[in-house]
Amino acid sequence: MNVLVVGGAGYIGSHCVRQLAQAGHRPVVVDNMVYGHRAAVAPEIPLYDAQIGDESAMRAILESEKIEVVMHFAAYAYVGESVSDPLKYYFNNSVATYHLLRAMLDCGVKKFVFSSTCATYGDVEPPIVEETPQNPINPYGQTKLDVEHALRNIAPAHGLSFAAFRYFNAAGAAEDGSIGEDHNPETHLIPLVFDAATSKRENIQIFGTDYPTPDGTCLRDYVHVDDLSRAHIAVFEQLNQPGAALFYNLGTGTPTSVREVIAAVEQVTGMKVPTVEKPRRAGDPPALYADATKAKTELGWKVQYPTIGPIVETAWKWHKSHPNGYGS
Ligand code: UDP
Repeated sequence: MNVLVVGGAGYIGSHCVRQLAQAGHRPVVVDNMVYGHRAAVAPEIPLYDAQIGDESAMRAILESEKIEVVMHFAAYAYVGESVSDPLKYYFNNSVATYHLLRAMLDCGVKKFVFSSTCATYGDVEPPIVEETPQNPINPYGQTKLDVEHALRNIAPAHGLSFAAFRYFNAAGAAEDGSIGEDHNPETHLIPLVFDAATSKRENIQIFGTDYPTPDGTCLRDYVHVDDLSRAHIAVFEQLNQPGAALFYNLGTGTPTSVREVIAAVEQVTGMKVPTVEKPRRAGDPPALYADATKAKTELGWKVQYPTIGPIVETAWKWHKSHPNGYGS
């Protein structure tokens, strides 16, 4: 398939591009390079520097590249920023996506894979199933949920078939350590713990030690970026059904605490991680982990990295060889 990967130079998108190529598909990347990295995309893969909200630019690419399916990873994903600057998120994550969808429909492209998030659920009792009520507690989650709702309406009206994947905490890096996570600013736990281990930062702050969890720190479901990517390809067959409206949680189902992540980093690196206990971070639910039975049974999705240790190992391989990310 000719697959347009928008946001394909970003963290999850770039891993998906690589898996698509390995599976024999022809990925084409669109990225506005605000957070994307040229070096994350192999040089033989076409890369267009364009805005997804620019309908005429998108129509030109969809047509000239004979695109059959669009995968959409292009979004802002800083929860804190979404609270302080919500319109930035509404325009970039929601409005721009509606332009992209209109350009697709204009060109007769009717298969769509959307990166949604567990942040659409808000503060709920885990394990989280797809039917768990969605009440996001921040604008980031709301913008993703808004697109999910729009897709539900667009699918039957236009015969669009789509899958919305609700990711839990994307983590890890390609097995060979050549591509990985490089955010600026970095806010995610695992790369920050590496920075603390390697003295790039003084310590790691543990946000909240009084949660009602076994060790008092938050529980999250860390899922390997290549496991996420494989689900995007596994869904292709289901998209052959016009109007298919599919929603899947993607997580390992294994809850891992902040302290367990730090312990895994210490074990994998052999380095001591200095920690400081801090108050809870606003908006952090105590525990978020998935029940991903639906993706497993309907898509035959298999999690190859079910636990934190091997996920951290791949992330460490990337981090060690790229201490300054793609700028290394
Ligand atoms: N966290 C932490 N210290 C940090 C960054 C994150 O204790 O410097 C915690 C955070 O409170 C959450 C977990 O690590 O419980 C994962 O946070 P991250 O920002 O990686 O992902 P999120 O779950 O917010 O999407």
